[in-house]
Amino acid sequence: MRNGGLFIVVSAPSGTGKTSICREILKMFPNIRFSVSYTTRKPRPNEIDGQDYHFISEKEFLDGIERGEFAEWTENYGHYYGTSTKTMAAFLERGCDLILDIESAGAKTLKNHFGPGIFIFILPPSLDELKVRLRKRGSESDDALQKRLRNALNEIREIGLYDYIIFNDNLETAIDRFKSIYVAEKCRRERLQERINDFFN
Ligand code: ADP
Ligand code: 5GP
Repeated sequence: MRNGGLFIVVSAPSGTGKTSICREILKMFPNIRFSVSYTTRKPRPNEIDGQDYHFISEKEFLDGIERGEFAEWTENYGHYYGTSTKTMAAFLERGCDLILDIESAGAKTLKNHFGPGIFIFILPPSLDELKVRLRKRGSESDDALQKRLRNALNEIREIGLYDYIIFNDNLETAIDRFKSIYVAEKCRRERLQERINDFFN
């Protein structure tokens, strides 16, 4: 597709720092947009509908599945999460690059059914540090926290699916690594083929 955008799947156990990293990358590169997922979970304090997620009811989500509106979707922690095919395709067709903050089951679906993208997995320095960050983020009961940690381990087991791994020990370094991956990927010959052809013509 001429000038088609690039999609970047970013996965990490919750609390690793994915949101913090992506927020900075989005500020640095205006051509990268954030794919706003649909979810049935309730907003956390400071989350904005339409910006962090589209918060919808379970019925609306199930109707969306029925109508085949999601490029991928998953059920996680008793809530549904999904990516709209239409929104994703619209951005990519306009030549925008797209960051998708999704977990590994969704990443697998996109890898198998949505053409080539970049798959990045972010790891915390350790599970102890992950606990600290989850607590810092707030609004979680002890029960929910334990569940997130168990899920973190399951998520990390899927790491073989990803092209790039970033350890988020230090936020600045992690952002810098993400930036390097993106810039290098944009310079791949096959992504620049149209421009190379124009050059010779
Ligand atoms: P995620 O989106 O992966 O759930 P967040 O970006 O919300 O994670 O980060 C979870 C918490 O950890 C936040 O309070 C954030 O400020 C903090 N955090 C993120 N990266 C780092 C880091 N490298 N060192 C220390 N704290 C961090
Ligand atoms: P949280 O509730 O912490 O915002 O997100 C929980 C998990 O759901 C995270 O791992 C996040 O990446 C994932 N997630 C968010 N949106 C989507 C989505 O549209 N599809 C999939 N498969 N996972 C998502």
